[in-house]
Amino acid sequence: MFYRNTWAEIDLDKFAHNINVIKEYTNKEIFCVVKANAYGHGDFHIATQAMQNGCSYVAVSSLDEAMALRRQGFTKNILILGFVSIGDIKVAIDQKITLTCVSYDWVCELCAHYHDLSDLKLHLKVDTGMNRIGMKKLTELQDALDKLISKNAIVEGIYTHFHSADDVDKIKCERQKKWFYHIIDSLNYNFKWIHASNSDASISFTDEKCNAVRVGLALYGIKSVESNIDLKPILSLYTKITCIKEVKKNETIGYGATYQCNKDEIIATIPIGYGDGFIRANQGRFVCIDGHPYEIVGRVCMDQCMIKVDKKYPVGTKVEIISEYIPISNMAHELKMIPYEVLCLLSDRIPRIYYSNGDVIDTINLRIHE
Ligand SMILES: *Cc1c(COP(=O)(O)O)cnc(C)c1O
Repeated sequence: MFYRNTWAEIDLDKFAHNINVIKEYTNKEIFCVVKANAYGHGDFHIATQAMQNGCSYVAVSSLDEAMALRRQGFTKNILILGFVSIGDIKVAIDQKITLTCVSYDWVCELCAHYHDLSDLKLHLKVDTGMNRIGMKKLTELQDALDKLISKNAIVEGIYTHFHSADDVDKIKCERQKKWFYHIIDSLNYNFKWIHASNSDASISFTDEKCNAVRVGLALYGIKSVESNIDLKPILSLYTKITCIKEVKKNETIGYGATYQCNKDEIIATIPIGYGDGFIRANQGRFVCIDGHPYEIVGRVCMDQCMIKVDKKYPVGTKVEIISEYIPISNMAHELKMIPYEVLCLLSDRIPRIYYSNGDVIDTINLRIHE
């Protein structure tokens, strides 16, 4: 249910297509990354569809995100990629959520607080140069592993993260891979899951010892490295004209009067603004009506903005904000942002409509709890 005519459409068939493309291309199991509300696409439907289409895990950033999925009824494998407080471990165990060993100290504290960890699944994180989270030294990793095994923890995975997977030159990835493989070989432990690559690395790099990839952006249909694999963007964003008027030469548009008409012009108002994550930097960019580009003129307001059109479109005419004519990668480039940021900005004021086999299967409006 929603009443304001600004909405996102998410095509779950294209999402399933992207999963198959990545699976065939990498020949590995897929951990679908659904952190930050599935990059704005909505965590529940994305996670559910991912598992129905053969992904092995979904990955989130925090216990809150994992719990949000559980609360919505998602019962399958969840891996938390970030830090979880030792005081909250009980919640993770109760909810059957897999955790990441983010540091040697974290493992020591965990083992100091629990006698028996036989219900806890863990993945060791190896820091091979990102310097964010993980353990770097073999001695630390070996010690952590021994401690966890002595407490009967289920150490089912080991992973690392590349810091420059989007570089055309793969020398930095190679260096990190060598470090990671040295650790795996030295630990000589039978991990169920070994993973390293995100989207860009999955597409442009080979990690032959890994049996899984952690993919977010590519599954949402966006590429940030050159490749001819057939990924389809799954999210579109639309709004509808609410007002249309003729504005005389020399009149100005919006706050600060930053745009002045240099002739009589037709100005349409659309109900989307920075409160929706459609930031003020969008001023001067273009949106589309039936594929025709029209400029956003004047400052973007919190809830609305104005566009300069060339005919008196009826109120209710659909306007494309993100679509096949306006891909997120172009929008991000124009805003001097990355596609991840553009997607994460889309606020929960925008209802998400989910399509499968051409039909609407659900509408989620987080501002009106039904
Ligand atoms: C976000 C994230 C990913 C997924 O990255 P994409 O570029 O969207 O594929 C993978 N691994 C970790 C550790 C992450 O934080």
